[in-house]
Amino acid sequence: MRIGLIGYPVQHSASPRMQNAAFAAVGLTEWTYELWPTPLDALAERLLELRKNHHIGGCNVTIPHKQNVLGALDVLSDHARMLGAVNTIVKRDGQLIGHNTDWLGFLADLRFNGFEPVGGQRALVLGAGGSARGIVYALLKCGLRVHIVNRDAARAHSLAHDLHPLGTVSAITTMHQAGAIDLIINCTSAGMDPHLDTTPWPLDLPFPRQAFLYDLVYKPRQTVLIQQAEAAGARCAGGIGMLAEQGAAAFELWTGVPAAQVAPVMRAALG
Ligand code: NDP
Repeated sequence: MRIGLIGYPVQHSASPRMQNAAFAAVGLTEWTYELWPTPLDALAERLLELRKNHHIGGCNVTIPHKQNVLGALDVLSDHARMLGAVNTIVKRDGQLIGHNTDWLGFLADLRFNGFEPVGGQRALVLGAGGSARGIVYALLKCGLRVHIVNRDAARAHSLAHDLHPLGTVSAITTMHQAGAIDLIINCTSAGMDPHLDTTPWPLDLPFPRQAFLYDLVYKPRQTVLIQQAEAAGARCAGGIGMLAEQGAAAFELWTGVPAAQVAPVMRAALG
């Protein structure tokens, strides 16, 4: 059975390493995970191949196609529909079913790192792009009250507007407006290789030491933002575990093997 990653470019993806390690670990020796680089003009043909080839069981979807595939699928999970983005496709009885496991991966890794999200806590989300949407969704599902701040304030307002039916969420224009915060999540690409010296947190604003920082950036493992938080005495986690956990949740959808069983294998494969 073949599973693949649809996106463009995909050659630097760590997904084959962790998914193939998991197939081997649970004895699915006939299963392989492949990279399927797919520019936009080749997407329709790729999805046709996915639909027709009986040796293909599904795929992951990454940038820039998480929204592009929506209209080509037969069924969307409630989460994928609400988020307007698909990162996992499962083929069942000839139908293509779209799921989103990014938000599940975030919650699983947050808990793994010792932060239990509960109703009433206050969260500050930095960024308003694709990943921020999934993170705000996850936080609202857990009952947290969420502020969003983004360089482009209009995008933060738009995200808050879209997700406000799910809970208490608002856009703010500066970090100072956030007040006391329990959890800060970096969903910006500031600090991500090759922007190693950038940080979304103002250098002249003390990082709140009582807050837990979750930085989605996983390359490098030690971002400037994590250094700022650690220097203030705050607890922190980087995003590598989320990568493993969203992959484990997708693995469960394709194979039926529980995510909790393969997540440690995937974490180990990522090193
Ligand atoms: P998008 O391109 O959709 O959004 C990028 C966001 O970053 C925007 O809000 C943008 O602001 C903001 N931004 C970019 N540069 C800066 C800067 N210098 N200062 C402040 N804000 C900045 O990206 P994604 O949401 O898909 O991904 C964001 C990050 O999260 C990436 O580093 C990605 O690798 C990581 N990620 C990690 C995952 C994991 O499993 N750990 C999963 C998904 C993503 P503006 O709107 O103003 O341009």
